[in-house]
Amino acid sequence: MATTVERRDNVRLGTADIPYVFKRVPRRRHVHILVNEEGTLEVRAPWRFSLAKAREVLRENAGWVSETLGAVRKRLAQRPRLVTGTRLPLLDGSLRLDVRSRAQIDMFQCARRWQGRAERRGTVLRVSSTSLAEAELRTLIERWYRREAATHLSARVEHYSPRLGVRPSRVTIRGQRSRWGSCSGKGTVSLNWRLMMVPAELADYVVVHELCHLRHMDHSPHFWAMVGGVVPDYRERRRNLNALQGHLPL
Ligand SMILES: [Zn+2]
Repeated sequence: MATTVERRDNVRLGTADIPYVFKRVPRRRHVHILVNEEGTLEVRAPWRFSLAKAREVLRENAGWVSETLGAVRKRLAQRPRLVTGTRLPLLDGSLRLDVRSRAQIDMFQCARRWQGRAERRGTVLRVSSTSLAEAELRTLIERWYRREAATHLSARVEHYSPRLGVRPSRVTIRGQRSRWGSCSGKGTVSLNWRLMMVPAELADYVVVHELCHLRHMDHSPHFWAMVGGVVPDYRERRRNLNALQGHLPL
């Protein structure tokens, strides 16, 4: 079976050459332009779409493209730099980042393939890495948050499941940019590790929301009544959560 084919290309918009990723997706029907959270422009097109056609679509939407790229890049520039002293949110508190390069750590010198690690010491998150490049540090920090999420969010699922009279078959931790959680027809509840970077009551709201989907697979009044039974102020929590989307440091 065919899988998505991806290639890089540039398109001239106004006076600038804009790089973008051209993806041809099997069974896709319509062309879709987007700027992902990392600020990369993408064209997702039906399988038979040509590169020339992709450029044409981008030129037709030049206004939207430059406006959206500008907005996302501005937001990325506001992301805190991953350097010693930066504060990263952790539920209702925060951790102070302490970044150390590998050269400072003698005891790991003989360990091959060691790329680094993140560990918490009280209110400090110490990241030791062979590279201080943002991308490497991000990976190590994300790995740490994911582990924390697996523990904390699973415990919250354990806490709320009996109260709601439901039982997920599995809990998984994910990292999609666009959603905080999901619930599958097979009873798997998936939660985003980034919930560890929002206030605990907002993370709890997502846990309750997804658990309620085990009973109601829609957003019907019955569903919201079930959510409201445990989280009466769910509207406000949902609003606060939406306001945080796209504004987290990682
Ligand atoms: Zn939902």
